[in-house]
Amino acid sequence: KQLSIGHSMLTTIIYRSHICKNVPFHSVTDMVAAANVKNDQADVTGILLFNGTHFFQMIEGPEESVLNIYQHICRDNRHYNIVELLCDYAPARRFGKTGMELFDLREYDRDEVLQAVLDKGTSKYQLFYNDRALKFLRTFVEATEKENYFEIPPADSWLFISDKKDVHTQAVIADNSADCSFAFQPMVDPFAQKILSTEALLRTAGGESTATYFAGFTGKALYEADLNSKKVAFAMASSLKLGEQSVSVNLLPMTLVVIPGAVDFLLREIQINGLVPEQVTVEFTESEVISRIDEFTDGIRQLKAAGISVAIDHFGAGFGGLLLLSQFQPDRIKINRELIKDVHKSGPRQAIIQAIIKCCASLEISISAVGVEKAEEWMWLESAGISHFQGNLFARAQLSGIAAVAWPERKADL
Ligand code: C2E
Ligand code: MN
Ligand code: MN
Repeated sequence: KQLSIGHSMLTTIIYRSHICKNVPFHSVTDMVAAANVKNDQADVTGILLFNGTHFFQMIEGPEESVLNIYQHICRDNRHYNIVELLCDYAPARRFGKTGMELFDLREYDRDEVLQAVLDKGTSKYQLFYNDRALKFLRTFVEATEKENYFEIPPADSWLFISDKKDVHTQAVIADNSADCSFAFQPMVDPFAQKILSTEALLRTAGGESTATYFAGFTGKALYEADLNSKKVAFAMASSLKLGEQSVSVNLLPMTLVVIPGAVDFLLREIQINGLVPEQVTVEFTESEVISRIDEFTDGIRQLKAAGISVAIDHFGAGFGGLLLLSQFQPDRIKINRELIKDVHKSGPRQAIIQAIIKCCASLEISISAVGVEKAEEWMWLESAGISHFQGNLFARAQLSGIAAVAWPERKADL
């Protein structure tokens, strides 16, 4: 086989998946035979490993063909829980002999199986150099990652049922001269069917986005507007009759640094509105903090000393998130949609989120996932050990009110 470097770089995709129940092995061999013909036309080569339960496939060839074939594979209903592990470029194919070689790991002894797989290869160097693709192959063959293969049920095994008990919640703005408003979105524990807290999200008086509101300010006035808006946030939250429930507000880190007496301002507004500091969380997005980290951590200390909880928002999305975490430990970390999106299909996202979970467990920091839209995302995250969620799947942010929560019910249980 010729290398296809030139107009299209040699691309590798590796995925793993789970064979569906009632799929006989001969249907897999038939599929591979058909794939061989098709791949040959597309200049695609590779290997498919099977261990009796899981598939592991490496596909190599021109970028367009590889992506095309991968999309096709993802739609095949003989397997499910398809997780992309690697998508990368390489100077040469590792398995360049045939369109697709099927390798049944069950036919070999433990101590010879890896070499038997590698013997099928066309790579000059096998495992002598640090090739990530071959390292993934070894890991699958040796089954050292198996505890991370979560078997999540299909999305349509759940129904999301709106809770009619809490549709009434509408906030009233005491001060109708306010130039801003807030939308509210609950954070929930779906299995416990509990609302854990409610986040206040800044809007213009007419209900437009946070960014639109902030676009009207520059320099220090921006930070002042950020802080002053919390007066409205707490007043509206208080009118929502949240009882003992927690309320979260967002602040720019620099608001805490630049505005003198910011913490006292917050404490006064919390008290005026009949709330207690212990039920309030302030969320910070980690971006731009680093420049004045000492003043920022000083502000955090004041918040904590007053009983207010602190969360890091959009964890992992900004600069120096880990450095910030080494400097101070919040009560909660919120993982944002950028990392959560399609986590059930992405090996890299799964690895990063598992590392965040492990780190937070060691530090006794709570975790929540924000921006959860799909049942599969939620289920994967539950399997990984997260139980606090915020997202359109459960309840959308609603201007000056709280939307009813759609709680998941297993169809079999209905
Ligand atoms: P955030 O704190 O991460 O707030 C969650 C955002 O995700 C909200 O966007 C919410 O509407 C959105 N969201 C929730 N569930 C889903 C979902 O399932 N899918 C998608 N695509 N989005 C979802 P929003 O209200 O536009 O707020 C954007 C950001 O603006 C907030 O992100 C927060 O960082 C910032 N922000 C909001 N209010 C304030 C504030 O009072 N002060 C400051 N400084 N920043 C604020
Ligand atoms: Mn937030
Ligand atoms: Mn956000």
